Amino acid sequence: MDSRQPFSTYTQAKRFGAPYKTITLARVRVLRLIATAITCTCSMAQPLMLPTPNQALFEQGREDAFFAPTPGKPWTTGCFGCVRSEGMQMHEGIDIRSVQRDAKGEPTDPVWAVAHGTVVYINTNPGLSTFGRYVVLRHFIDGIEVYSTYAHLRAVRNGLAVGQQLQPGELIGIMGRSSSSPGSISKDRAHLHFELGLLLNEHFAAWFKNAFPEQRNDHGMWNGQNIIGLDPHAIFLLQHKHGSNFNLLDYVRNQTELCRVFVRSTNFPWLRRYPQLIRQNHRAQSEGVAGYEIALNFNGVPFELTPRAASEINARGRFVLLSVNEAELSRNPCRKLVTRHGGKWQLADNGLRLLELLTYQP
Ligand SMILES: [Zn+2]
Repeated sequence: MDSRQPFSTYTQAKRFGAPYKTITLARVRVLRLIATAITCTCSMAQPLMLPTPNQALFEQGREDAFFAPTPGKPWTTGCFGCVRSEGMQMHEGIDIRSVQRDAKGEPTDPVWAVAHGTVVYINTNPGLSTFGRYVVLRHFIDGIEVYSTYAHLRAVRNGLAVGQQLQPGELIGIMGRSSSSPGSISKDRAHLHFELGLLLNEHFAAWFKNAFPEQRNDHGMWNGQNIIGLDPHAIFLLQHKHGSNFNLLDYVRNQTELCRVFVRSTNFPWLRRYPQLIRQNHRAQSEGVAGYEIALNFNGVPFELTPRAASEINARGRFVLLSVNEAELSRNPCRKLVTRHGGKWQLADNGLRLLELLTYQP
């Protein structure tokens, strides 16, 4: 089956009307000019540009001018990873500070596409997500499909539509503090929540309805839970340092392993979407593939998949935990994918749920 079929049908079916707030055309033109100027100076050195005028990330020691922390906490709480609740809560993106405001103190920073991409989702109803108003773009960078998410927007660019192609630096909207819990982001903390990630499963909506029948999902497959985050901070810094020698696919392939699992499934969307992450195994290829051995990073990103023959597997069960990297787990424990029970490691609820979503095929 062609995995792209349901994908394109879905995006074509979803069209959104005018955003809640509109931006005047003249202003859009000015913002585009600024964006183009910045793109021209940065894009030669880096395939991904920063999504707002705040460029302090690349100035040594100015992290506190770039990251918006949680109230009363250091700038690191605005980073990606196990940075919240004393390291036990995951923040799956980065929070970028506002650098320009109107007379009322609300942010006016333009938010730009970080790379050439296609608009795949626009949520203009802030009440429907903790992301508030948000936009998701799909990109193909270094041969891998990657998604960027721009959340808490004050306004979405007037006329922005699903299916539209955007150039790097093209305006998406204006930074804000919209969220389904009004007032949860104070004026001084207004920021862009920015994510870069991979799409777990295009059948997310059906899986979610089965797994959580009592919970709402207003965003189909574009629910934030279905885009598994990479570290944008690390990616921006690495490509700033290495320029065109940075390769996003290599970055994904070289994640630090948190654990290794075996899944007794041979046909699931990730295999078709990310074939670049599958390794060769001649024994499985000649005897027949019985399942996949998968390396997960601390956030659960399945970054290396090896087909296995039945003769190579001596464990029973749909999902089998093969190994745990305890050093990595102690550095990054917050996703709670595995747990120790009676001295033995096993998949925790979060780990099982991730593998169920990953391998779900209706
Ligand atoms: Zn955030």
